[in-house]
Amino acid sequence: MSARARVTPSGVLKEPSQYVTFDPGDDAQGCDEVFWEDPRYFQPRRGPNGEARHWGLFPWKDGIEWIEGYDIFSRWTRIFRTYDFKGKLCPEEQFVLCRMAIKLMDLEEMDVEELKACDYTLYIKTENMPKLPGSEADRLWRRIRVSGGLTLSVFADKVLTPLFGFIRNLHAHVFHDLLDGALFGPEGCDAIDMMHRHATGYRYLPDDEWQIAHILQAKGEATLWQYDFGDNWYFHITVEDIAPAQASTGAVTVLGGSGTHCPQDLTPVKWAELLAAADRSTVRVPEALRQLFQSQNYAHTPFSAAYSLEHFSAGDTQRALAAALDSPASVRSMSKQFAAMLDGSDRTPRAHDAPDTLKRGQQIVATEVLDAEGKPTGVFLEEGVAKSRRDHPDTTACANCGSPNNLKVCSGCKKKYFCSRSCQRVSWAQGHKKECKAMKA
Ligand SMILES: [Zn+2]
Ligand SMILES: [Zn+2]
Repeated sequence: MSARARVTPSGVLKEPSQYVTFDPGDDAQGCDEVFWEDPRYFQPRRGPNGEARHWGLFPWKDGIEWIEGYDIFSRWTRIFRTYDFKGKLCPEEQFVLCRMAIKLMDLEEMDVEELKACDYTLYIKTENMPKLPGSEADRLWRRIRVSGGLTLSVFADKVLTPLFGFIRNLHAHVFHDLLDGALFGPEGCDAIDMMHRHATGYRYLPDDEWQIAHILQAKGEATLWQYDFGDNWYFHITVEDIAPAQASTGAVTVLGGSGTHCPQDLTPVKWAELLAAADRSTVRVPEALRQLFQSQNYAHTPFSAAYSLEHFSAGDTQRALAAALDSPASVRSMSKQFAAMLDGSDRTPRAHDAPDTLKRGQQIVATEVLDAEGKPTGVFLEEGVAKSRRDHPDTTACANCGSPNNLKVCSGCKKKYFCSRSCQRVSWAQGHKKECKAMKA
């Protein structure tokens, strides 16, 4: 432990911490004073409704969680050579690691076996969107039914990401347990926004080891899903109902929704501004519509001036979810990349930090992204894995209905999982018959 006293952002001179170690090369500039506390007895900082987010590390101001994102990021850029390069944990990470160990003990003591067999009705809405003029209704929301036994990583990758129209495996995400601020996220993720992980809460528990039932246990409870550590889309997920196990099927079902998919790589603050401007505007093509069709997740949707910003199709959304559930889990260490084509010539189908050699089954697919006039603006690089990959049995769902219960691997291809004979039969008729043979080869 370094013996030097340090000055916190609020100007308080602190004696060396008893609980975390500062490297001699770290002057602690920008390090919040909570990190001098004893992490074992740390009381999370809470919002106006008693909720804790981001491990409860960040202060709240006027009902808004106040993350000095820029300062946290600039501290990280100063200290990453001191800690990350040497394989050491910075003081903040040491602190969070202790909170993680405590949370792990809580999780291991939880008995959620019954809840895992129950279907949840979840109402999911984005934070801070403007209401429609003359209405009190939420603007951007979805309602789904999903099993409490679904693993959080599967929930994020195969349900929530397509539910809001985001591109799978493009950005990182975390679930916040609002009772204590505990975070669950993708281990080994190399998405570009991981550079902002310090401002997200430094570290998180693996989301492929815990299920929905571990963070939501009763009607009225809520969790927060944060998607993209750079743009920070926050989704409130509230439990509207938990069906008894006898009345549960485990299937993922889209029940309703409103509002177009979220434009990828636009901040929700910017999107809220554009929606509010569209409400006031009388022009035929509001800027919001233009921006929507320029975002990557709308790159393959032809521009339509008549498209409604409130557009939502339960059928299309259910089909997008079905396609995701019928595919292998995304591999986080192969997150996708987007390369801007600045001079119109860079069509190299490689991400700037893509691995030099492709692993078995890995493929990189480049798709040109066009703007509203049909001019190429960039290349979208999909670094994924061949369709024949097999999921781990604990982190998957029925390829037909999305149930995580009673899964058995298809005896033909030994790659797809089904919850029942009837689901296997449906999938077989819808094309798995042909695919199964090809996958086996
Ligand atoms: Zn099924
Ligand atoms: Zn098969």
